[in-house]
Amino acid sequence: MAADTLLAAGIAVDLYEAMPAPARKLLAAGSGGLNLTTEEKFSLFLGHYPGREERLRPFLKDFGPRQTQDWARSLDVATVRGAGGKVYPASRTAAELTHNWLTRLDNTGLRLHLGHRWLGWDEAGRLRFMTGQGETTAEAGAVVLALGGGSRPQLGATGQWRQILAAEGCAIAPFRPANCGFEVDFSEHFRARFAHLRLPLKNVVLIFSDGGQSFRKRGECLVTAYGLEGSLIYACGHLLRDSLEAGHEALVRFDLFPDTPQQALAEKLKRPRGRRSLASHLEKCLSLTGVRRGLAYEFIPKETFADSEALAAALKNLPIPLLRPRPLAEAISTAGGLCFSELDDHLMLKRRPGVFCAGEMLDWEAPTGGYLITCCLATGHAAGLAARNWLKKGSPSQTAWKRLHE
Ligand SMILES: Cc1cc2nc3c(=O)[nH]c(=O)nc-3n(C[C@H](O)[C@H](O)[C@H](O)COP(=O)(O)OP(=O)(O)OC[C@H]3O[C@@H](n4cnc5c(N)ncnc54)[C@H](O)[C@@H]3O)c2cc1C
Repeated sequence: MAADTLLAAGIAVDLYEAMPAPARKLLAAGSGGLNLTTEEKFSLFLGHYPGREERLRPFLKDFGPRQTQDWARSLDVATVRGAGGKVYPASRTAAELTHNWLTRLDNTGLRLHLGHRWLGWDEAGRLRFMTGQGETTAEAGAVVLALGGGSRPQLGATGQWRQILAAEGCAIAPFRPANCGFEVDFSEHFRARFAHLRLPLKNVVLIFSDGGQSFRKRGECLVTAYGLEGSLIYACGHLLRDSLEAGHEALVRFDLFPDTPQQALAEKLKRPRGRRSLASHLEKCLSLTGVRRGLAYEFIPKETFADSEALAAALKNLPIPLLRPRPLAEAISTAGGLCFSELDDHLMLKRRPGVFCAGEMLDWEAPTGGYLITCCLATGHAAGLAARNWLKKGSPSQTAWKRLHE
């Protein structure tokens, strides 16, 4: 996005990418439908960047959900709106968008250098790269670093930049998994029966509270061999992770019947059971089957099933203790990264004037729902504009850069 912004301003851009192909993570994001953004009230939208609302506000105000959709349309990619204002490419993949974007960048003169891993700066301030042919250097009037976080390292972003910037004296918040699954100590019986199937748990309300923080949302998640994952878990994942890190118990509670009041549920359970087994009584009275029934058996004490009132209360508040988040390498995104205190208001590194930073490498996090891509685009756009303004100022480095490109 920074390259796009600079090229649109008529500035020559060289893009260095460590991998043999660009945009691997964006393409991978397409496998999940590519949620580009969410159309909602700005204050709600901004609330999805916990603790970083004020730092990100100017970038997301300039380039938010509307601009993200305009940008997709500028690439001839039609978008569709799903539930809750979520916006996707009509194709629900990233292939067309990535292809059209790379074509536009190519047509506007981008010089793409694949297989170039940035290693830092040499003593003369030149950028160092490792290539298949050995080390090489390059000079530039302005630099934008958009090196990503540390999840799914096979897609290119490994977080190796942290050593380079830490050696410059930059403060970097530790990487932690975000938008990740959480492990649950399921019994072997439950695991064998349900968990290997990756079964969805739809239309439930997840409730979590720890100290001053509380969360309550309707949605769905996925029951997997190791525990729970999916959008509801991701939405409160930072609270769950922080709670576990603070040594607290991360106990999520599910209302398995959000449309039925507890009393109505109890009345249904009180219907005569006759000679039916408990399982078929639960199926007949409440349509409680499959993985929902499995979870009820797994986490509600046996004796509670004999008491309709208590069982109704338990089904409206099913407790599942989470053990730990899954590792960063498996996560969808990364929390932590380059601290905002290292950057000025225009995303420029205070310790390296003329070097700007953008995207997931910065210390913010957000749930899935397009909040990640929108913020990467927004900060990329802002870094591109700031680099353009920096070059316009006619700094000594700009003169060197001009000489290089004439
Ligand atoms: C499976 C999956 C599904 C997702 N779905 C969504 C979604 O639907 N909606 C959403 O908003 N977000 C989604 N995301 C997250 C989103 O894709 C990322 O937040 C976003 O791609 C981050 O962009 P970035 O440019 O900051 O980093 P990246 O996309 O990781 O790009 C960083 C690039 O820098 C390169 N690089 C790293 N180090 C060096 C170096 N030293 N030298 C040269 N190059 C280097 C890497 O190879 C990489 O290409 C998903 C992520 C995953 C993994």
